[in-house]
Parts: sequence; structure tokens; C-alpha cells
Amino acid sequence: MAKINIITLGCSKNLVDSENIATQINKQNIEFTFDEFNFDADTVIINTCGFINDAKEESVNTILEFAEAKIKGKIKNLYVMGCLSERYKDELKKDIEEVDQFFGVNDLQEIVEQLKIDYKKELLGERVISTPKHYAYLKISEGCDRTCAFCAIPMIRGKHVSVPLELLLNQAKNLAQKGVKELILIAQDLTYYGLDIYKKQKLAELIEKLSEVKGIEIIRLHYAYPANFPDDILKIIKKKKNVAKYLDIPFQHISNKVLAKMKRRHDKELTLKLIKKIRIEVPDIAIRTTLLVGHPGETKKDFEELKEFVKEMRFDRLGVFTYSEEENTFGGNNYKDIISKETKQARADEIMEIQQQISLEINKSKIGKEFKIIIDKETKKHFVGRTEFDSPDVDNEVLINKNIKLQIGEIYCVKITSAEEFDLYGEII
Ligand code: SF4
Repeated sequence: MAKINIITLGCSKNLVDSENIATQINKQNIEFTFDEFNFDADTVIINTCGFINDAKEESVNTILEFAEAKIKGKIKNLYVMGCLSERYKDELKKDIEEVDQFFGVNDLQEIVEQLKIDYKKELLGERVISTPKHYAYLKISEGCDRTCAFCAIPMIRGKHVSVPLELLLNQAKNLAQKGVKELILIAQDLTYYGLDIYKKQKLAELIEKLSEVKGIEIIRLHYAYPANFPDDILKIIKKKKNVAKYLDIPFQHISNKVLAKMKRRHDKELTLKLIKKIRIEVPDIAIRTTLLVGHPGETKKDFEELKEFVKEMRFDRLGVFTYSEEENTFGGNNYKDIISKETKQARADEIMEIQQQISLEINKSKIGKEFKIIIDKETKKHFVGRTEFDSPDVDNEVLINKNIKLQIGEIYCVKITSAEEFDLYGEII
């Protein structure tokens, strides 16, 4: 029996694409794995990321490692798909001859056919998941209609295309029947959902309908663009018990000058008003944001303004990227990337130091309180879970002593006993 290994690099949107391929393979009873360390499969598919320099480098290095394995005869076929492949297909073809075929981001059918598998369109509502079986990502749309100066995504993934609501509901029902309790909604921009196919924003309606799917106990929202934010989702987050009080909104910056250079459609005033509104409507919500430092035009003064913003807003979760000049983006074509790599990194580190302290203070305030925790995994010493305020892989974990046997995927009531910057410790009550 042929063995196929699918390796996913980059974001959760790529992960869903890999899972869709696995679903087609699975229907043919062909053995497959999702294992970046498995060099023994007959066929390896690498799903690459092409977003920024670091991600591109990681993707190229992974392809080279498996090209080497092919030269040594450990694997027979090597295929590369995803964002890097979409963006640099011609260059990669020339440089890495060991790869049998490169595919773009929308070539699911072609990849499946290359594997000599009958492509079944009707499987689009189903999904084999690579995450622990109690949570899954639900990609509600593809592409992006925004024009942020630094971002290569619209060039790679194309314009925004929403997945029809009925199809998403079917997917959610299928996933719930297989034991998924937590649905993590992802898209380049969740707030745009519906505008293309229904001519109006339909995120609130989608969340409400998903919240009624039997078996779904947590719905989590990632990546909401701040401008034209659909206020109606706040009422649903507040009202529905199974919608996590959690929102991921990448603000990128706060200086009006930098935001304008980034070609974002929000300014400082809108940003502050939005954060205030969210916190008034849903008082105990956890807000996660992402910032971008070292963008062309960011002066020391702009950076100081950003630091003040981080200190004042006290986000529950925060991540920082450093600017990476990307060819053919508006920024790449029109701006000079003059801030040094060292300065960009120093700025990112400074922001993370501030956030570390904020996170520690927020976490310490949870000591003695009780939370519902979903258990993701167990290590030698602990069961590892998350509160509704934490997303897998990117946020805090709650570590629980193994004196009582817990079930992975079950939800327990846990009292927090101690806290670190990015982790909590608790005991079952
Ligand atoms: S909204 Fe996000 S994905 Fe879309 S262009 Fe801006 S940064 Fe890129």
C-alpha cells in the first residue's frame, strides 16, 4: 500500500488545505500521515508558506531536506504545493529539480489526480483533521479584498471568496459528529464574510447558526479586520454560551502616519473606539492582536506611540511581526525598506517585553479563580488544557497535575493555583 506523508508549513489556512487533500486520500483507503519528521513515505507533499522571508526560508529548507531524501532513495515522489509554490513556481522548478511537480494554492483537484486518486467533489463538506480530534479549523473564506501595502496574501490567494453558509454548516455538522467540540473560524478577514456572495456581511448570522450545531461547545474567532467591523457579532459573543469570549483583531499599528503608509483603512481614533466598544459590550472578552514593527516610515516617535498603545490597552494576547519587504506588494514597489534588521528585531523584542509583564499581571489576577478548561494533550508531568480565552498553539496553556486521570478533549472545571507570563497552573475541582 502506498504511503503518503503531508507536511504543512505556515498558518491554519494551509492546514485546512492539507486536511482536504487527506480527505480525498482517505476515501481511497491509502495510508497517509501528517508528519514533518517522516522521511520514509513513498510520496511526500509539502504544503508551503510564502508570506514573509522567515516563512519562505523555512519552506525552502524543508523542500531541500526532502529533495535530499529523494536523492538518497528514501522517498519516491516529492510534490510541493501552497503559497510559496504559487508565488515562485518557475524559480523553484529551475532550482530544485528533485521536486516532481509544483502546485498552486487552488490546485487541490490536480494534486489529487497526480496521486492517481479519483477526485470527489462531494467530499468538500467532509474533512479528515490533523488536529486533536476535539478541535478543528473552519475556513470560512479564501483570499482577501484589502490592499494592505505590506501584504502579499491577496497576490497569492486572490480576491475574497466566501464559502456558502450551507456548506459551512454541513462541514460543522460533519465535524461535530466526528467528535469536534471546538470550531476555530479562520479567514484572511472574517468580517468580510458574505459581502461577495450575499452582498452583505453575514458573519453574525454564520456564528449564530454554527452555535446551534449539536455538539459544538466552543466557537472561536480569528482574524477580524478593524474597519467596517460588524458590531452585531458582539451581541452574539455575549449572548451565546458556546461562542468564546475571544476575538483576534490584528491592529498592526497605532500611529496614523504608519497606518496610512500601511494602507490600512482604520486610524487611531477608530481603533481606540472599537476596542472600547468591544470591551463595553463584552466586558470579560480576551482580545488578541498582532502588530507589525519596522514598517517603512516608522520613526522612533511612531514606535514610542505604539509602545504606549500596548501599555494602555493591555491586550490579553499579542504577537509581533517585523516588516519584510515583499516584491510586487505596494510597499515593495513604492517604499524603501531602510530600517535595519537589528532595529526591527529590537523593536519587536521591546514590545514583547512590555507584553510579557502585562500577561504576567493578567495571569496572576486569575489565581484562585475557576475556569472551564478543555484538555488538549498530556505530557509526562501534566495534562495540558486551555480556557475559552486561549486558542491552540498561539495562546496560554493551563498545566494540571496528573494526580487525577483526565480525558483528552473533555472539559473540566479547574481552579488556577499559580501563574507565569504565558502559562497557568491549576487543579481540578
Ligand atoms: S487584511 Fe490581512 S490578509 Fe488582507 S491584505 Fe491586509 S494584512 Fe493581508
